Amino acid sequence: MTNGNSKCPLLSIVVPAYNEAVSLPTTVAVLLEQARPQCEKLEIIVVNDGSKDETAQVLDQLAAKYQEVQPVHFSRNFGKEAALEAGLERAVGDAVLFIDADMQHPPSLIPEMIDAWCKGADVVNARKRDRGKEQFLYGIASRLFYRLFAKAAGVDFKGASDYKLVDRQVVEAIKACQERARFFRGLVAWVGFRQTDVLFDVQPRVAGESAWSIYGLVKYSLRNLITFSSLPLKSIAIVGFVMAALSMVLCLQTFARYLMGNSLSGFTTVIIFQTVFSAAILLAIGVLAIYVARLYEEQKGRPLYLVRNHRLRSLEDSGTSNRASIDN
Ligand code: UDP
Ligand code: MG
Repeated sequence: MTNGNSKCPLLSIVVPAYNEAVSLPTTVAVLLEQARPQCEKLEIIVVNDGSKDETAQVLDQLAAKYQEVQPVHFSRNFGKEAALEAGLERAVGDAVLFIDADMQHPPSLIPEMIDAWCKGADVVNARKRDRGKEQFLYGIASRLFYRLFAKAAGVDFKGASDYKLVDRQVVEAIKACQERARFFRGLVAWVGFRQTDVLFDVQPRVAGESAWSIYGLVKYSLRNLITFSSLPLKSIAIVGFVMAALSMVLCLQTFARYLMGNSLSGFTTVIIFQTVFSAAILLAIGVLAIYVARLYEEQKGRPLYLVRNHRLRSLEDSGTSNRASIDN
């Protein structure tokens, strides 16, 4: 618990925001209220991830009202991972706090998290005690994914969230990771350092609804598994060995039957083996294809996100026609 004396010299707070026009004013006000007494200097980097609602205007108004608020506007929706990355790259704090814009991560935990950092933790993970109100399928899917991930990547994600306070050293370590397909939670777990947990109960959203669809979640989970682990690739070799052993047994049995003069029977076996082997080969090619596609995406080396800057916005506002460069 907070001892009252521990303060962070410069604290950065990174807030990814997609269609959060309604939540943002409350979130920013609460963040300021909770964080100001805990640090000497504060910056709140709000990344507007190509929102389709009034988030951009609301954010600019907040930036005009509070000097701590720094807006970043993406040119389109690049996803939460890109928004977290943009915040991470811009943050200059001794410690950086990552928190959702919808108040599902209770800001009342901030003093406790800063206190843990002051006491020497490099990473303070806020873990979900209870997963809050979420869809039944969502709960099962995320549990399954985390179990699979724990096996494949050797990282425990039970109750993990993106609500974290990380030290400057950890920020630099994450920045040094070169992969384009970012998985913030995974990277923080992977870099190591002294990590500690605080528990929280997931709060209901202050407004709007979760931007995740089931399809989006499955895609995100598979992408993270593939970028973080080569286990699916290695498992092809294991399947190959098992298949080779089975085919050896079948060959021996077929040869023995031939010698005994009854080699014509066993049609069912042939069908079964033919089907199973074809399926295994196609599956193996599929796994390889996914990894090749990942490599292809990585080697393109495109930026993770694009920022739409203010100069173009003010030109647009004053009626100067520069829309094409903004919209396309
Ligand atoms: N978010 C984002 N880009 C997106 C989707 C979401 O920046 O494409 C932000 C969103 O504004 C929120 C956080 O990421 O601050 C978590 O999103 P959400 O609440 O939709 O996810 P959930 O809480 O259901 O995991
Ligand atoms: Mg949420």
